[in-house]
Amino acid sequence: MIGRVASPASWLVRPLVPSRSDIHVPIMPTSSISTVASAVPCPVVESLDAILPEEPLLMMGAGPVPIPAAVAKANTIVINHLGGAMVKVISQVKTMARYVFQTQSKWVLGVAGPGSGAMEMAISNLAWEGTRVLCIKNGFFSDRMGEMGRRVGARVSTLEVADRSVASLEQIAEAIRRERPEIVTVVQGETSNTVWNHHLKDIAALAKAAGSLVIVDAVCTLSTMPLEMDAWGIDAVITGGQKGLSSIPGVSLIAFSDAAWARVKGRTAPNAHWCLDASLAENFWHNGGYHYTAPVSGVLALHEALRLVCAETLEKRFARHLKCSLALQQGVTALGLQLYAPEACRLNSVVGIEVPEGLTPADVCSHISRQHQVEISGSFGLPIVRIGQMGEQCREHNLFRTLHALGRTMVDLGVKVDLPAGVAALERGLSEGK
Ligand SMILES: *Cc1c(COP(=O)(O)O)cnc(C)c1O
Repeated sequence: MIGRVASPASWLVRPLVPSRSDIHVPIMPTSSISTVASAVPCPVVESLDAILPEEPLLMMGAGPVPIPAAVAKANTIVINHLGGAMVKVISQVKTMARYVFQTQSKWVLGVAGPGSGAMEMAISNLAWEGTRVLCIKNGFFSDRMGEMGRRVGARVSTLEVADRSVASLEQIAEAIRRERPEIVTVVQGETSNTVWNHHLKDIAALAKAAGSLVIVDAVCTLSTMPLEMDAWGIDAVITGGQKGLSSIPGVSLIAFSDAAWARVKGRTAPNAHWCLDASLAENFWHNGGYHYTAPVSGVLALHEALRLVCAETLEKRFARHLKCSLALQQGVTALGLQLYAPEACRLNSVVGIEVPEGLTPADVCSHISRQHQVEISGSFGLPIVRIGQMGEQCREHNLFRTLHALGRTMVDLGVKVDLPAGVAALERGLSEGK
């Protein structure tokens, strides 16, 4: 597992003055050297060796997460985006993604873009001027789907859910009766406030029964906990690369059900987002043709990430995530810190921890990064820090280092915590069931 892709030997020996290769020397035609000065002068910049820390930070925040060596290696390769090798890779990516999404649907596509790109692909293909959308808003990310709906001209109604809670099925049924949505959007795990929509399956069933299509944001949860697209009747599932899948950021996946695909094909006005038009993307992802130049290295990285999920199997992967996250939560609690989300709707993929009085999330995040080379996240104005439990973050050695670093950080910043008790609780949690 490595946190940075290229790790040249020069990393270890940092020159005091810029080396020759650090200085960008523009090549100009000889005739112009003495006569034309560029209007914008050539900049002098620092090399990555000078910018990046000597020891890579352990990425334990809300994403991106550490990537396995096979993913990092794949990400260094460039091949023909339309050649035979790529066709084979794409075919395997779709097959493996169907397993991870738990769907038989043909309509799996990749997206050159962040998780939000996949989200926008779902929204902009299925909603347009006047479409009635019900957005179940648990926080920052689930609200984004509503915002994207408004931007394509949809009539979005929002079910506001109080922080640290999930909507009851009665509230959702009532909102569906009132708004008669053609589309319902919902997040499985709301990364911002670490709330888990644990009755996703029942929410999807309610929406289905009312004739709505269901779009699920599974960016932080896919492959970390059960999600059964077909069995639960979900019409579009979106995910990013850099969270549960432990791939690189910037290449994402989406799956549409047959019903959703029929709506995509039945629309009369084309999607205004040309790059995100699912009908055009079908060319590349299903017909071996050209849409835009795919991010080949990122697709190869995603292939390896999915292959590792398949090698582990979903059952074992879910069990690993559950055990690690619960042990971490026990460790944090035993330190004497408070978890943010109540147990009933607590997300395991990202753990939210209340920041003790007198400190800000930024104080904690910057100290733990500087002193312990462990990167964790704040959260959009909430008084919490977040530790991710996605993919490679769920490894025992990463948990011990992170919990110890968090405990030391609290001590350094003047908060009384019981560090030995925290580490002991983590160990107990991890040893259970061994
Ligand atoms: C991270 C995240 C997103 C956004 O993903 P980007 O890759 O940053 O666009 C959306 N939804 C959820 C639940 C997330 O955790």
